Amino acid sequence: MTVRPIRYLGDPVLRQPAKKVKRVDDYIRRLIIDMTESMIEAQGVGIAAPQIGVNLRVVIIGMPDDHPFPIVNPEVVKRSGSRELDEGCLSVPGYHGIVSRSKKVVVKGLNEKGRQIRITAEDNLLAQALEHEVDHVNGTLYVDHLNSRDDLMKIEARAYTSNVEDVSDTAN
Ligand SMILES: [Zn+2]
Repeated sequence: MTVRPIRYLGDPVLRQPAKKVKRVDDYIRRLIIDMTESMIEAQGVGIAAPQIGVNLRVVIIGMPDDHPFPIVNPEVVKRSGSRELDEGCLSVPGYHGIVSRSKKVVVKGLNEKGRQIRITAEDNLLAQALEHEVDHVNGTLYVDHLNSRDDLMKIEARAYTSNVEDVSDTAN
């Protein structure tokens, strides 16, 4: 198990559409373990392979109080509704911003054994994390959903704004 350094905004690996995994083998399972360790170390609720410099379609979802799980070749197959959410990212440390996300998402992909999985989430942190991580493997960052980079807020500013205090430290 290896904690690998997180890549930050500006690193080209975050902008390349990641490659589809052809076979879920031991290499992928080791990657899943490293990604999980790196996510926990960085205190994130999700991580995508490009965030540790690996250009493959693999993400980990790590909801608080729940076991982290991987999705290989994740794909949003259905989305509906919209909601405004405060969001952060391990690759954009120190900042957060309000973005529009779907209310309900259905994601399909493969688990660590290569078996098909399908996850449905509605109106919760899981739904937000699923969209955020699938964005990552497409080379998209949440900052792309802002109207302007001026809408990025420094995390320190949170202490002075009451309406965003309850979002806690959820970075994906
Ligand atoms: Zn992120």
